[in-house]
Amino acid sequence: MILVSACLLGEKVRYDGSGYNNEILNKYKHLAKFQVVCPEVLAGLSIPRNPAEITANKVLTNKGEDVTNYFINGAYLTMKLAKKQGIKTAILKANSPSCGNKLVYDGTFQNKKVKGQGLTAQVLTLAGVAVYSEEELTEELLVRLIQED
Ligand code: SF4
Repeated sequence: MILVSACLLGEKVRYDGSGYNNEILNKYKHLAKFQVVCPEVLAGLSIPRNPAEITANKVLTNKGEDVTNYFINGAYLTMKLAKKQGIKTAILKANSPSCGNKLVYDGTFQNKKVKGQGLTAQVLTLAGVAVYSEEELTEELLVRLIQED
């Protein structure tokens, strides 16, 4: 089973109530066993919600609310789910403060990115899950991951 960010498969779970339709994931979803999850919604955040970014070891919304605990809980619950399902691979949404794998927004809400992982991506990586973002995903890679699963 492969863990996938829910918003990549069109679930309207993003902060603004939207989702994405990732063509490669949608094309292969009938062949794959995907465990679809949104860590932020799993932790109890609402849809819609204020956008949040990581800044100085906290996660703050654009209104200054400290939502760090939600993000930690979302990461922990997602890791628990991954362990329960024996998941070794995750395909997560790039740049998110939960799911981002290589880059995250820098905390200024100015659309600037810095190197780093979102909290869920960090916890999954530490637990030994191989994390990819949709930006790294090719059909060849997904077919290989499905075959290896
Ligand atoms: Fe998508 Fe992850 Fe953000 Fe949920 S937490 S909306 S799955 S990027």
